[in-house]
Amino acid sequence: MPGPEGLGIAGLDYLRLEGAAPQRLRMGVSRRLGGDRSALLRHDDSERVDRARSLSYLTFVAPLDIITLPDRKLRLVSDPIERIDDDLRRFADQMLETMYDAPGIGLAAIQVGVPRRMIVLDVAQREDEAAERDPMVMINPEILTRSDELAVREEGCLSIPEYYAEVERPATLRVRFLDRAGKPQEIDAGGVLATCIQHEIDHLDGKLFIDYLSKLKRDMVIRKFTKQAKLAPKPASL
Ligand SMILES: [Zn+2]
Repeated sequence: MPGPEGLGIAGLDYLRLEGAAPQRLRMGVSRRLGGDRSALLRHDDSERVDRARSLSYLTFVAPLDIITLPDRKLRLVSDPIERIDDDLRRFADQMLETMYDAPGIGLAAIQVGVPRRMIVLDVAQREDEAAERDPMVMINPEILTRSDELAVREEGCLSIPEYYAEVERPATLRVRFLDRAGKPQEIDAGGVLATCIQHEIDHLDGKLFIDYLSKLKRDMVIRKFTKQAKLAPKPASL
């Protein structure tokens, strides 16, 4: 893999790894869900049985379907989350599972069709393949300050598959959010994490990374995906 600041680096939602990496990542997900050290991703059968009780977000299907261009939901402005409960935590875990499975390094709730202000991220393996996973959940994230210094990175998006382009954004930022437990957090972020946070928060405001490109390039991408969607086989009618 090229270095973190490197040339031709992978984009955001996408974690481009060579070879059989997606499979390896998928196995990693199962292992972790089976288990042990990560409270973040622990799923417990008793919770699953209860799931119909008050689950207002989604039913349990893993991984979740990621919506893509030209789905208009991608342009919705997501609503703040008012209550952090077990249903929301389970949804966050599903989002992480979907992100790892894709594989990607960031995912916003609207990308699985839920217009609520929550994003999940893990840039650890993006920066060092051998690194342990470091999943983050940010609820109602808000950027407090951005640096004047800018950084250019090649970005990609799970909702705009296999399209990459360079985007210039503030190099560092300070972000405030509620964590998975509902506790307020503030962190300073730089590098890939700063880019990723900005890309994902943009999703919550209905904004896509192609909006930073020239109108010509943006229209080209939208046209391409609109055409693809029209060509896609439709489910058989009964
Ligand atoms: Zn994206």
